[in-house]
Amino acid sequence: MKDMPSRRITQPIRQRILLLRRNILALCALTVIALWGVVLYALHIEWINRLKEEKVALIRHASIISGKIHDSLVDASKIIDAVRTAIEKQISVASPDRRQAYEVIRTVIQNFSIYNSGDTLGLLLYLDKNGFLTAQSGVYPSPAYDLTERGYFRSLRDDPSRKFSIGKMRTAITTGKQVFHLSMALHSPQGGFAGVVACQIREKELAESIDHMLKGIHNQILVQIPSDGTAFLYPTTGEIPKQESLLNEELLRGITGNRQESGLIGNEETGTLRISGANSAFRETTYVGYVRDPLFGLLTTARIPESQIMRSFLLQNECLIGLAILTSLGISILFYRLYRKALSLDKSIHEASFDHLTLIRNRRSLEKEFHRLWRDASRRKKPISLLFIDIDRFKQFNDTHGHAAGDRVLMATALVINRSLNRPLDLCCRWGGEEFLALLPETTAQEALFVAERIRQRIGMMKLKFHGKPLSHITLSIGIAATMSRVQAEFLHESKSGIYERITPEDLIARADKALMQAKELGRDRVIIG
Ligand code: GH3
Ligand code: MG
Ligand code: MG
Repeated sequence: MKDMPSRRITQPIRQRILLLRRNILALCALTVIALWGVVLYALHIEWINRLKEEKVALIRHASIISGKIHDSLVDASKIIDAVRTAIEKQISVASPDRRQAYEVIRTVIQNFSIYNSGDTLGLLLYLDKNGFLTAQSGVYPSPAYDLTERGYFRSLRDDPSRKFSIGKMRTAITTGKQVFHLSMALHSPQGGFAGVVACQIREKELAESIDHMLKGIHNQILVQIPSDGTAFLYPTTGEIPKQESLLNEELLRGITGNRQESGLIGNEETGTLRISGANSAFRETTYVGYVRDPLFGLLTTARIPESQIMRSFLLQNECLIGLAILTSLGISILFYRLYRKALSLDKSIHEASFDHLTLIRNRRSLEKEFHRLWRDASRRKKPISLLFIDIDRFKQFNDTHGHAAGDRVLMATALVINRSLNRPLDLCCRWGGEEFLALLPETTAQEALFVAERIRQRIGMMKLKFHGKPLSHITLSIGIAATMSRVQAEFLHESKSGIYERITPEDLIARADKALMQAKELGRDRVIIG
């Protein structure tokens, strides 16, 4: 039903309610967005601080292990140096035999109290210039193992300028335990290569001494011998670490190329870097803190996957995140309720003013509007006309075709009446049952008669069907009451006591009703001006 004049009155209120509904939605969205904006900003700041703390911790952990290994290597180097000096002294006289070499090692160990207390140091080995094990601490005679292929022997034999060598982690042939070696070359009085003295650094004991320093810390720590292999891995895995998977080029390249975040602690080169995931070495993004030992060249890296930091970060902030989720849920529920209220308000306003069957204005709504238009017409001295419309013998129609068909006819009649009112201020309503009222402001009785006839004729021409079956024609009786005729309206501006002072809207309705009665009495299907 388009152009329904009755809609005009409630339109501003309904528009305001629509605006209210939109505002409720917008406010809800804004509040939730603002809430999450603040929460995410706070989390972001917290995350940046957390990363800073993690990086500092990574360097600290790497530094602790680097320092521990450094101390062990310094101890080892002192003892190796002592054995080397003693054996070189012997060599200057004659090449020492196995017994002599063993005695030298035993004497040196006895003199070194640190050797007894420093349990990270393993066996002391003396390899002759051909790489055969000649003497070892604790056992005499030592098995004559051929250790030519050991990295710590070969690198010293092949490069006379090297002062020492550190071998990668391996299972010692002598003890079956996992160790790495610090070794130094022996030289004959002529300066030629005369063998190697090596000291084992024991993985298990080293890890145990680190355990209490890094209690509860789960970073993986890796000590690398650049270009050779892994010297030490913490926590220990019980296996020899594979160079391919752990000592990866990515890490070394990253550290070498990392200039922004690197620095010096004491004389150690330190730094952090973030290696993004999805490559052969790192399946996920990882933060690495590193320390490079300036004396031995070992590179110690402590690393932690970003996901691990994220997990503990989320756990730490779960209260905040939970609270934000609950608050946004609460806000959404609150606004949803408000929205529902606005919706039901909209519905109530519509229901309070409109007839639910015919969808035109109801009696209450027209009465209210009639008083307003009445005052306006009175002030402007303009006429108002009223049509009281009743369907003829509708009871009979219902009895013949049924109540449902009657309802359809009521709807169709309302539609015809509504469409027959052309002026913007014209109104119509369902007064009750099969009765309708049409209110025509600024319309004289003669003009109203014209409108009433138009309605009556259109209804007469209406072809009605219900469930495919044609229905009998209906007719209307219409009573008209008007505040003034055309003649009165023309001279109204000269009249001092207007008609509005003498009658009320209710009087006009009663007059129209009376005219309708006359129309019924005169045989129905007609219009009578009262
Ligand atoms: P008259 O020509 O004198 O007006 O006769 P009438 O039968 O139209 O008048 P009467 O007042 O005796 O009966 C009115 C009938 O209108 C009674 C009822 O069956 C019918 N009616 C009232 N409201 C509704 C409605 O909402 N739906 C239907 N289908 N019929 C209605
Ligand atoms: Mg009636
Ligand atoms: Mg009737």
